[in-house]
Amino acid sequence: MKIISINAGSSSLKFQLFNMDDETVLASGLFERIGIEGSCYSIKYTGKKVKEEIEMKDHSDAVKILLDKLISLNIISSFDEIDAVGHRTVHGRDKYTDSVLITDEVIEDIDKFKEFAPIHNPANLLGIKAFKEVLPNVPMVAVFDTAFHQTIDEVNYLYPVPYKWYTDYQVRKYGFHGTSHKFIAKTLAEKLGRDDLKIISCHLGQGASLAAIKNGKCVDTSMGFTPLTGVIMGTRSGDVDASIIPFVMEKEGKNVHEVLDDLNKKSGFLGISQYSSDSRDIEQGITEGKRNCVIAEEKFVRSVVNYIAQYYVLLEGVDVIAFTAGIGENSINTRLKIVEELACLGIKIDIDANNVRGEFKRISTPDSKSEVYIVPTNEELMIARDTKAIIENR
Ligand code: AMP
Repeated sequence: MKIISINAGSSSLKFQLFNMDDETVLASGLFERIGIEGSCYSIKYTGKKVKEEIEMKDHSDAVKILLDKLISLNIISSFDEIDAVGHRTVHGRDKYTDSVLITDEVIEDIDKFKEFAPIHNPANLLGIKAFKEVLPNVPMVAVFDTAFHQTIDEVNYLYPVPYKWYTDYQVRKYGFHGTSHKFIAKTLAEKLGRDDLKIISCHLGQGASLAAIKNGKCVDTSMGFTPLTGVIMGTRSGDVDASIIPFVMEKEGKNVHEVLDDLNKKSGFLGISQYSSDSRDIEQGITEGKRNCVIAEEKFVRSVVNYIAQYYVLLEGVDVIAFTAGIGENSINTRLKIVEELACLGIKIDIDANNVRGEFKRISTPDSKSEVYIVPTNEELMIARDTKAIIENR
C-alpha cells in the first residue's frame, strides 16, 4: 500500500511517499514559492536528488508536477498505485478527536475553523483541494494537530476567564504538535512493550511544547488556544502576562496585531538574546561570552523544567521523559542542563549515553527514578499510519 503524507503551507508543499507494507520512504520532497516568481521543487528518492525551477501558479500545479515526476522518475508506474493521501491539518477545534476521512463536511469544517488557525488551515485546505482536483477518486484523510489533545479534561483545558468566552466563542486550550506527541507515545509503548506508561513528551524545536501522557492519552499540554503559549521558543514568547499587550501598544503606538506579531516573531530566543532564534547560534553565542545568549538558554531550560515539574505532579510520577524535535533530538547541552535540574526527583542523566544526536536511545542512568529517552519524531509517518488505519477500516 502506498500513501502520500502532505504538509501544505501557503506557498509550499512538503511530501513523503511511503510504502506502508514496510513503512519505507519511496520519495520525499519540497515544492516552494508556489504562486511566487522563482517557484521550484526538490525530490529525493533512492539516494538521488532532483531539483528544478519551474512555474507553479497554484497548489494544483504543484500536485500535477509532483505526480508526473513520481512517474517520470520511475518511483511509481501509474497514479493507481497511490492508495491514499494524508494531510497534516492544524485545527480541528473540539469537533475532531481523531484523524478523519475527508468528506465535503470535513472540508467545510476546516474552512470554518480557520478563525482559530488563520495561517495554517487555509494553507492545509489548498493542499487538500489540489489533490481532490488531480486525484478525485483517491481517499484522503485529515490528521489534525489538535486531535491528540482532545482527551484533556475541562479543568485543564478551560481558562479562568468569563465562561461565556468558552461557550460562545470556544476559547479554551487546544494544544498543538499533537501528531508528534502521539508518535512519541506510540513509539515508546511499542519499544518498551507497555501501554500504561506515564510520559512527559518534550517536543523542543523552533516551536516547542510539552505533553503529559498517561496510558497513551494526553492529560495536559503546554500550548493553548494558539501555539504562542507554553515554553519559550525560537521567536515565540511562551507564557506571558496578557496585560503587557495594551501596555506596549501605548508605549510604542502599535495596534494589537503588531504587538501580537512581536510576541510571535520577535520574542523567545530571538527576543532575549537579541542575536538569533536558532538554538545552534545561541550555543555559539554562549561560547563567545554573549550574556544575553546565556540568559536565553537558561530561561528556555527553566521554562521546560517548570512544565516537567508540573506534569510530574499531575501524572503522580513519570515513567519516561522523552526529548524530540530539532533541539530535543540534537542539542546535547540543552538536554543535559534540563535533566540535571531534575536531580531532586531522582532523575539522572548518563553523560556518555547523552552524547548522541537524532537516534532512539535511553540517556538516563540505570538507577534513575524515571527513564529519559531521545525519540526522533516522525510526523509524516504518523500521518501515513493514521491514513492507512482509516482507509482500511472504512
Ligand atoms: P525543528 O523546528 O524541530 O526543525 O527544530 C529547529 C531547532 O532545532 C532550531 O533551534 C535548531 O537550532 C535546532 N537544532 C537542529 N539541529 C541541531 C543541532 N545539531 N544542535 C542543536 N540544535 C539543533
